[in-house]
Amino acid sequence: MLVSYLKGVGPKKAEILKAECNITTIEELLHFFPRKYVDYSQATRIADIKREGATVSLVGKITQFELYSPNGAKRQRLSALLKDATGVIELTWFQNCHWVLEKFKDGDEVVILGKTQLFNNRYQITHPEIEKVSDEDSELSQLKIIPFYASSAKLKKWNLDSRGFRKIIREALKNYLSLIEENLTPAICQKYQLIPKKEAIGAIHFPSSFVQLQAAQKRLKFEELFFFECLMAKRKWVVQSQHQSRPFAKIGHYFNTFYYHHLPFELTNAQKRVIREIRHDVAKTTQMNRLVQGDVGSGKTIVAVMAMLMAVDNGFQAALLAPTEILAEQHWKNVHRLLSPLGLQVDMLTGGMRKSLKKRVLEDTEQGKTHILIGTHALLEDTVRFHNLGLTIIDEQHKFGVLQRSKLWKKNDFFPHNLSMTATPIPRSLALTLYGDLDVSRMDELPPGRKPVKTIVKTEAHRLEINGMIQRELEKGHQVYVVYPLVEESEKLDLIAVEQGYALMQRQFPNYRVGIVHGKMKPEAKEFEMHRFATGQTHILVATTVIEVGVDVPNATLMVIEHAERFGLSQLHQLRGRVGRGGEQAYAILVASEKVGYEGKQRLLAMASTNDGFKIAEYDLKLRGPGDFLGTRQSGLPEFKLTNLATDGSILLLAQQAAFELIKNDPQLALPEHQMLKKFLMNYVNQHHLEDLLA
Ligand code: ADP
Ligand code: MG
Repeated sequence: MLVSYLKGVGPKKAEILKAECNITTIEELLHFFPRKYVDYSQATRIADIKREGATVSLVGKITQFELYSPNGAKRQRLSALLKDATGVIELTWFQNCHWVLEKFKDGDEVVILGKTQLFNNRYQITHPEIEKVSDEDSELSQLKIIPFYASSAKLKKWNLDSRGFRKIIREALKNYLSLIEENLTPAICQKYQLIPKKEAIGAIHFPSSFVQLQAAQKRLKFEELFFFECLMAKRKWVVQSQHQSRPFAKIGHYFNTFYYHHLPFELTNAQKRVIREIRHDVAKTTQMNRLVQGDVGSGKTIVAVMAMLMAVDNGFQAALLAPTEILAEQHWKNVHRLLSPLGLQVDMLTGGMRKSLKKRVLEDTEQGKTHILIGTHALLEDTVRFHNLGLTIIDEQHKFGVLQRSKLWKKNDFFPHNLSMTATPIPRSLALTLYGDLDVSRMDELPPGRKPVKTIVKTEAHRLEINGMIQRELEKGHQVYVVYPLVEESEKLDLIAVEQGYALMQRQFPNYRVGIVHGKMKPEAKEFEMHRFATGQTHILVATTVIEVGVDVPNATLMVIEHAERFGLSQLHQLRGRVGRGGEQAYAILVASEKVGYEGKQRLLAMASTNDGFKIAEYDLKLRGPGDFLGTRQSGLPEFKLTNLATDGSILLLAQQAAFELIKNDPQLALPEHQMLKKFLMNYVNQHHLEDLLA
């Protein structure tokens, strides 16, 4: 039913709700959950504020409004003081100043919610959520726990601040709660101790206690995860019951010759274990779907090579897919060097290749002359036909997203076994969610003799010292990366920064050659610069994150990362994995801007304190949430409204268990008692555009 049926929601408000929150129906409004809750009785006393970056709720009187334009700027700024019995704190607004002035008078008692900041040695709060606690507002004084809703300037203009939302949601709950249908079976609710849906919807908006709120959250988070996990379970079931693969029955000549005569080093225990796991999978008639997670430098390539040899030994071709041309080429060189002594034909296919060469490779691949084909997305094109593809390997698989995984499978009348590899160590909870349909191997050991990269946090003020370190490494004959962030919104400025950095390095180190690579360069120019650095013709490479993935230059021992606070932690970890690939001690210098705040500093120090990619990933996920962590678009994850994958691991496990059990017992959801689940699952798939997951 449309929201405009609600008392208090006219056509204009309905329009705004649609535009700003994507809410058109009353059911959707009831699924617009509070962002935060404040318990009056638990408010912080102003005198107890001891830390920057803490989220606090305060109750007090607001006074001394002051509207001004700093330094004659056009933008106005509003400040006010909040007083309680213990102290005073300043509140500041850069936006919505007039809304605040209209709503609140000097002396009003208010409750606010916000993050503390330290400014000129005094705490202040910018853009707090603010609410009046006046006696006319009978609702607020009745509520112990106040829900706060995400609002925006536009919403506020139409009185849809937290208070406005509370009003219409209360109305919806009173008259339209019957619209909410139960979508889990009694059996599941009972087994996992979940309260009914209607009750949960009521309590998530207006909980009478935190215990009740928790029960509501558990129920709704469970549901959010359950339907997604059902899809994962279904995918796994489809693979196991319908994806027939050819078993690699034997370990043969190529594998053994390589293993006993050409292996360039002793395998680590982790490598041996993963190879055994793969061996076990590919011997079966059902498709292998295995993900190898291993930190940068843990030696995944050789594992891929051994797996490909298993395919070749049994008369099959293998394909290796890499996310960039640089990486594809590097893999090709490596694998070619390792395997041509065995008389195997290893070919490469990329978009930028010469036509004649491409034609030759396509022909050889189709005729089966090519044993191993390595390439970029170009491998996915329809023109690429294999003679008998037995194994696909996807490197840095998170760069491809969930949906592309299956593309390569469709190149056969049977399903090739699939091995995915990733160097972004994904926290357990996220791996379970995202790859619930895969078996996961962890390579949690680095090859011996590797010296961990020493990571140092510096600010701009230490420029001389940083240059000194660069000089020292160069004098030792080593090479240096200088990395700049490049994000889309401020692309132009970022580009200028990279170019300035390049000019600066040339001036600072006139006796050395400096190269530059960034995403705006033509692919050939990029390749050219990368090649010059990789072969030691340039000594310093000024770059954006294009170098992030997989590039191997063992002589590079120092990486300076500018504006380090703007990178995600996992990204920083990937970046610094580019150095320390030879035997020498390597360094990463994280250069933070002077203005970086408390949290930013903590993040960088966390980076410096550990080299364990899994730990960093957990921390990163906690800070940024899964969307940012993986990049929402490519992650293939639906957005979870309530669930935080970093902290809701236990609910995730329950939901996963319930989903896999359900699909195991009734894969087609054919039983009468599962019809309702089936309906909701289909709705869920449509709503989140996940049709491809079922293909
Ligand atoms: P990644 O897991 O990041 O893909 P690579 O496969 O590129 O790592 O391996 C990183 C480096 O470590 C390569 O130079 C590789 O030759 C080397 N390497 C891999 N395994 C071992 C090992 N068991 N002993 C010594 N060096 C190894
Ligand atoms: Mg690799």
